[in-house]
Amino acid sequence: MKPAAMKALDRQRDVMIREHLLGRGIRDQAVLNAMREVPREEFIDERFREDAYGDHPLPIDERQTISQPYIVAYMIEALELDAADQVLEIGTGSGYAAAVLSRIVTNVYSVERLSGLAHSARKRLELLGYTNVVVHEGDGTLGWPEHAPYDAIVVTAGAPNVPQPLLEQLAIGGRLVIPVGQSADEQLLALVRRVSERDYRSKQLCGVRFVPLIGSAGW
Ligand code: SAH
Repeated sequence: MKPAAMKALDRQRDVMIREHLLGRGIRDQAVLNAMREVPREEFIDERFREDAYGDHPLPIDERQTISQPYIVAYMIEALELDAADQVLEIGTGSGYAAAVLSRIVTNVYSVERLSGLAHSARKRLELLGYTNVVVHEGDGTLGWPEHAPYDAIVVTAGAPNVPQPLLEQLAIGGRLVIPVGQSADEQLLALVRRVSERDYRSKQLCGVRFVPLIGSAGW
C-alpha cells in the first residue's frame, strides 16, 4: 500500500474511534485500544479498503458480512471482559471480531460453518500474528465443548432462539451476547448472564441486523 493511502486509513481509524465509538458511548478502554490496534482494512476485500472504517457492515465472501465497527465494539463491551478470560465466538466470518477479542483476552475460540471463510480467516489471522485465536470449522450452534466452560460467548449471526449448548458451555458468572429474533434479518441483542448452575438472567440491549445463524440449534 502507498504511504498516502496508509495515512488516509490511519486518519479514518482515528475518526472511527473518536466519532463512531467514543462518540456513541463506547467507554471500555480495552475495547477502544483493541480497535485502534487491529487493521480492519486487512479483513475486507481490496475493493472496499478505502471504506474500511466507515460505520457500516461490508460484504465479505460467501454472501456474509463483516459487522459495523460500532456493533463490534458494543457487543464486546457488553461481554465485560477480563484479560484472563476464555472467549468463544460463533461466526468467524472475516476474523475481524476474533482479532479484536484476541487483543483483550488470553484465548479466543472461534467457530465458522463455511469452510471457505474458516480457511481464509485462519490464514489471515496467522499472517497478521494473532496467535491466540483458534478457528474451527463446524456448526457453532453446538458451541465448542472441548474448550468449555467459557467466561464469555459472542454470537455474530442472528438466532431464532438462544441455543441450549451455548448456555451449557457458559461458566458460572459468564456472559453471552447474541442477536435473537423471529425474523431472519432483524433481531434484538440479548445479554445472558449465568448466575448459578441452573439460573440465567437475561436482558435486551438494542435492535440489530445480522445474517442468519444456520445450524441444528439455529435457522
Ligand atoms: N464476526 C464476523 C462477522 C460474521 S458474519 C467478522 O468479524 O467478520 C456471520 C458469520 O456467521 C458468517 O460467516 C456465517 O457463515 C457464520 N455462521 C452462520 N451460522 C453459523 C453457525 N451455525 N456456526 C458458525 N458460524 C455460523
